[in-house]
Amino acid sequence: MPGDEVPKPYVLSKNAPIAKKWESPLREVATVPPLEATAQEKERHRIYSLLLLSLMRRYFNGNRNGPRGVYPWRTGQREDDGRYAGGDYLGHNIGALAVDGSGDVIDFDFNHNQIFNSSAEHAEARLIRRVFSLTQIYDDWQTRKPTDPPRSKGYSTILSDVTVYTSLESCAQCSGVMALGQVGQVVYLQRDPGTYHIGNIMWNLTAREAGGGEKAQIKATAPRPIPGSEIDLPYFDELNELYRAYYQAVRTKPFHEWKGKKDKTGALTAFLCTDDALGVFERARKEFAGLTKAKLTYPKYRPKKPGAKTNQEVLAVAERFLQYAAEVGRRGTPHNL
Ligand SMILES: [Zn+2]
Repeated sequence: MPGDEVPKPYVLSKNAPIAKKWESPLREVATVPPLEATAQEKERHRIYSLLLLSLMRRYFNGNRNGPRGVYPWRTGQREDDGRYAGGDYLGHNIGALAVDGSGDVIDFDFNHNQIFNSSAEHAEARLIRRVFSLTQIYDDWQTRKPTDPPRSKGYSTILSDVTVYTSLESCAQCSGVMALGQVGQVVYLQRDPGTYHIGNIMWNLTAREAGGGEKAQIKATAPRPIPGSEIDLPYFDELNELYRAYYQAVRTKPFHEWKGKKDKTGALTAFLCTDDALGVFERARKEFAGLTKAKLTYPKYRPKKPGAKTNQEVLAVAERFLQYAAEVGRRGTPHNL
């Protein structure tokens, strides 16, 4: 009976990762095992995460529905003339940062959906496209693993040593662009239920064990998604909980009121305009501003990579980058450090 045929994966080898996962329950395919990062590595990830959250604060704009009307969740952002701080809304409060293999920040970008009137101008996708462009003209970023073939032989490995930090869990588009770029890993600072765990699923469906014995390691085409909870970043749980509370309360306390109409959207991008979200970004900014090398637990830690910077050097890089991005740069422009 044709209807009784069990579908099989379209693969050329039974060892293909998707073939091995074909009978697995979805919860397994959608779950990535814990990172098992060392305390030294976690501290390093947190420095970049705090830099990104500081950039979120610097470029924050809550005027998703314009500067007028009443935003019950934004009382702290109201100015003396009754309008709300922020001016023109270019896109959502979602940003991303790319870091090379030695620890230098390559660039950052933001969501620009509004200004392009598009639902696809996401921070990570915009960032990856620009980093590809930047690495064509400036060659000193350590974007590739030393063992990779010469650059002229393949754009697919140009970004293999790059880590992306993104303020929000990546969607299918951005996970796809990062997978095409073969970005090594992506650290995200808040969950997005709207992405249906696609980053995790892609990692699982491309992950295979390489090598054997003690040297065995997992290699995947898609970047490994790392939630902020795994690098001990408290703002991760805070943002997740605050969004959950917003989602439950927005029916009785609308996001926006204008000319008798109430916008009760539970969209995550609306939550990211609230005083609650801004408060988290502001506290992270203060933490980063108060961070000194004396406060680092592992200032001398250096990954085992040629030319890699120590954690205290990484902190200096991150501070310089924030100064540039906040004072000289603009939201979504290439940097010139
Ligand atoms: Zn996206």
